[in-house]
Amino acid sequence: MMHQMETRHNKVLLIYTGGTIGMVQDESGALQPFAMERIYDALPLLHRTEYHIDSCQLEKIIDSSNMTPEFWADIATKIEEHYDDYDGFVVLHGTDTMAYTASALSFMFKNLTKPIVLTGSQLPLGMLRSDGRENIICALEIASGRQLQIPEVTIFFESHLYRGNRSTKVSAENFDAFSSFNYPSLATAGIKISYKEHLIMPFPEGKLKVRKKFDRRIAVLKLFPGITPEVVRAIVRTPDLQGLIIETFGSGNAPTESWFIEALEEALSKGILILNVTQCKAGAVQMRQYQASCDMDRIGVIGGHDITIEAAVTKMMYLLGNFPNDKDKVRDRLGKCLRGEISMDINDSNDE
Ligand code: ASP
Repeated sequence: MMHQMETRHNKVLLIYTGGTIGMVQDESGALQPFAMERIYDALPLLHRTEYHIDSCQLEKIIDSSNMTPEFWADIATKIEEHYDDYDGFVVLHGTDTMAYTASALSFMFKNLTKPIVLTGSQLPLGMLRSDGRENIICALEIASGRQLQIPEVTIFFESHLYRGNRSTKVSAENFDAFSSFNYPSLATAGIKISYKEHLIMPFPEGKLKVRKKFDRRIAVLKLFPGITPEVVRAIVRTPDLQGLIIETFGSGNAPTESWFIEALEEALSKGILILNVTQCKAGAVQMRQYQASCDMDRIGVIGGHDITIEAAVTKMMYLLGNFPNDKDKVRDRLGKCLRGEISMDINDSNDE
């Protein structure tokens, strides 16, 4: 159901999916999501903006810890259905998995020309000190495109606008909950919103294409000193596994012991694609910089460059889901930049 507000120039669709921003406390004191209309009670200022806002919510509103690829598809469907009717979109979302959803949406919307801004808050809107008010108002302003039209999926949080597929949640406590370690913020909100135009993606030339399939049959293996062969083997032997992301040390390094490389070889021989992503927040995987990554490079592990784990997970699920019969293509695209998610030029040959 849509709630209509006064008609003005630019139009934004506000999509509520759940999260702290719209939560109330139940009798036990635990936070639970509540219905969309409460956002307007808590934020009457929304009636006074200089653009037109319509709002809607997903059928089921959730704590974002329950996020799934099916929900990503539902969000994408809402945007796709109303794509021509609005100048931009704001998605209110829990912070816990916001960076995953922003990354997923960035891959789903190829040739995006309108802003999709995700935001949320650390304190519920109904609370006096809530950070939600400023986050929503700025996100709406940015999504309205009145100053600049940003053809990207972004996250606005506590005065920064980040590229969605470069963002990571870094604090469960501070209002400054997100960061983008390998790419600067696209805009900063102070007295005015200052955009760094040279960092924003150029307008695409092709037609919008929305792909909503994801293949969930992937795993993330986070390395730690002392990890046992049993654990690594159990993961690579997961029935029907299609992709594996290894979170490695430093610039993409891993144990050089033979049992480890043999386990990866076993996975590769079954057609499982393996992507090497660093555990470091900043910096990139550089295979062959150390001997500790040479074997992985030799056997065909793909280097993830400076991708975040959120973008790696969603990119792998997206590529496997949409090109299920073309592992070579998936392997090739995993190493290329599709939507600005890694520090590498995007060119036509990267096009899916
Ligand atoms: N658990 C909440 C969620 O992600 C936290 C938040 O919204 O900040 O849905």
